[in-house]
Amino acid sequence: MILCSNPHAQYLAHREAIDQAVARVLASGRYILGDEVSSFESEFARYLGVPHAIAVASGTDALQIALRAAGVGPGDEVIAPSHTAVATVAAIELTGASPVFADIEPRYFTLDPNAVERRIGERTRAIVAVHLYGQAADLEALSAIAEKRGLFVIEDCAQSHGAAWQGRRLGSLGRFGCFSFYPTKNLGALGDGGLVATSDDALAARCRALREYGWNEQRESTLSGLNSRLDEVQAAILRAKLVHLDRDNGLRGDIARSYDAALSGGPFRLPERRSGTTHVFHQYVTRAPERDALLGSLHARGVAAGVHYPVPVHLQRAYLGRIRGSDALPETERAAREVLSLPMYPELEEPAVRAVISAMLESSRKEAS
Ligand SMILES: *Cc1c(COP(=O)(O)O)cnc(C)c1O
Repeated sequence: MILCSNPHAQYLAHREAIDQAVARVLASGRYILGDEVSSFESEFARYLGVPHAIAVASGTDALQIALRAAGVGPGDEVIAPSHTAVATVAAIELTGASPVFADIEPRYFTLDPNAVERRIGERTRAIVAVHLYGQAADLEALSAIAEKRGLFVIEDCAQSHGAAWQGRRLGSLGRFGCFSFYPTKNLGALGDGGLVATSDDALAARCRALREYGWNEQRESTLSGLNSRLDEVQAAILRAKLVHLDRDNGLRGDIARSYDAALSGGPFRLPERRSGTTHVFHQYVTRAPERDALLGSLHARGVAAGVHYPVPVHLQRAYLGRIRGSDALPETERAAREVLSLPMYPELEEPAVRAVISAMLESSRKEAS
């Protein structure tokens, strides 16, 4: 079976460096918030081009901590897409604030700035711009709206490590950039992890306090915080993998070009690139008529294509009928019916790419006949 993502292949590709990193931590005697974490924070901050990076326990926590550092809480509203990982929305609710949904642009699957503008109300405090599938949301339009209305933009970069907007890395452009290092992400740990990036000194200090019980330097709780620390083993693994991130993203780009070349002109709508941005292809997402039949046919041919995401957040039971904006999401609901993700990871080799392409072409011929 050709998998959609494959963190084990990534481990094998970097095995020696990862094994050494883990052994180094085990021997060090320091297991939480030590030199590996602070080195990883500096290295990732330098990679993004921001002064501050605060490593935390997950992407969900990164979003929650960023929002809380900015003072978002009960009574506030935060605009987000419903076509995203549930984590985006869960993080908003963890702060006590209410998510409000806005629809997406059908070409890029990211927030539609016009829809966002229509959702802004008295209580709106922030916009979570999710850079879905590895490509930037329309930061120019969203930032203009945010500035005009006194809101701040949080970038959800859980799928866009290394992607750029006009030469600047995503995660360095909003008030905060929030990352996840879940194993399947473009930069993945071998466990959970996350990070908040910001250029604001005071907000960075609040994030640092919030991740560990609200402590100041004297270990007095000055804020009501949480426990969201990254451990040394994960930080050491992430350091070993960060040096390969650009090359790995380049390999994803090569696979995307192979898919583009072989599948263009067929019945599928292929991913579009927003001009002025680099797409890092966390997922290669097509739109397919008769998506579910195609999915079955691909599985039968040994290709475990995926669907990101089959049920938009506003239609999942925990959220159904109670989130403002849920009644006006036609593009979100259409995307959920049509999207299909092809296998995509840096270690996916040429013969496997060809097998995916053949399976797509055969399946679509079968559908047509
Ligand atoms: C993975 C993901 C998250 C959450 O990350 P966790 O580390 O699983 O908490 C948030 N937003 C998006 C868009 C994601 O893909």
